[in-house]
Amino acid sequence: MLILMKLDAPRSDVERVKEKILSLGYATHEIPGEARIALGITGNRGKIDPELFLNLPGVLDAIPVTKPYKLASKDFKATKTTVPIGNESIGSNELTIIAGPCSVESRQQIIDTAGILKELGIKFLRGGAYKPRTSPYAFQGLKQEALQYLQDARTVTGLKIVTEVKDTETLPLVSECADVLQIGARNMQNYSLLEAVGAQSKPVLLKRGLSATIEEWLMAAEYILNGGNPNVILCERGIRTFETATRNTLDLNAVPIVKKLSHLPIIVDPSHGIGVWEGVIPMSLAAVAAGADGLMIEVHHNPETALSDGYQSLKPSKMKLLLEQLQQLAPIMNRTITR
Ligand code: PEP
Ligand code: MN
Repeated sequence: MLILMKLDAPRSDVERVKEKILSLGYATHEIPGEARIALGITGNRGKIDPELFLNLPGVLDAIPVTKPYKLASKDFKATKTTVPIGNESIGSNELTIIAGPCSVESRQQIIDTAGILKELGIKFLRGGAYKPRTSPYAFQGLKQEALQYLQDARTVTGLKIVTEVKDTETLPLVSECADVLQIGARNMQNYSLLEAVGAQSKPVLLKRGLSATIEEWLMAAEYILNGGNPNVILCERGIRTFETATRNTLDLNAVPIVKKLSHLPIIVDPSHGIGVWEGVIPMSLAAVAAGADGLMIEVHHNPETALSDGYQSLKPSKMKLLLEQLQQLAPIMNRTITR
């Protein structure tokens, strides 16, 4: 339920409503906004009777929220969320470009790649340290060693680090290194992990599960928000369908639908979405045309030798070409892309 207060309601009225909510055993969330004072209620299992609040001084309306997710919904927060990351942010007018290899393979590789990307004007470096692989025989990542190399790449270039956290055990280590914690598709419904990243303050990039509906994805985001971390960025990375010509089916429908349902920023990962490098540029442009707040692109200096996902990785020269094309597209979409 959402309690709307009169704009001129004194603070004491707002506090009285909050006390009432707490006395009923629910949680209350004051929702910032210039045009209204609103209090969200979560923690209720059944319907709440609006009459409980309508007679309290200062209350304008009590609106039931029927969606199963609340804090992630536009009902609770109408204005778009911008996630601050140091001197950068995700969800503003500026398109966010996150680029880098699927996996960190060596210190040299990640520092060289970071340097090339920085020259292209990119602000966020991706690179997996702990890799959740379908096969136990596939490269599992350099783990702690890779975290050190990522930190070195940040020291050398100043790029912000986006890297995946695979489990709660390694969360303290990974969050020491990461500027943004990535939750991978396979972990979208790992509720212990969602609760753990919700209880800490680093921003979270939440990838859509392999077969997750948009509602399930927003419910996963709700876990993080409900834990107290407001800094969630959604990432569409393709879903499983009957199609076998591509690795996944990039669901660009999700972009306008998520924007209608949620205030959270949404970026698109066309690399995993289509799974072949030739498709990455067209699908990147399509994602931005659909309204995405940014892109996550796998880039490798020598894709043929990559230890994971080489076939879907762009060479730096192709990444440069993509950025040139994005620069032409951005103004049409009322976006900026500084380089
Ligand atoms: C990745 O970003 O390299 C990755 C493993 O992605 P996903 O979780 O979307 O498969
Ligand atoms: Mn990958």
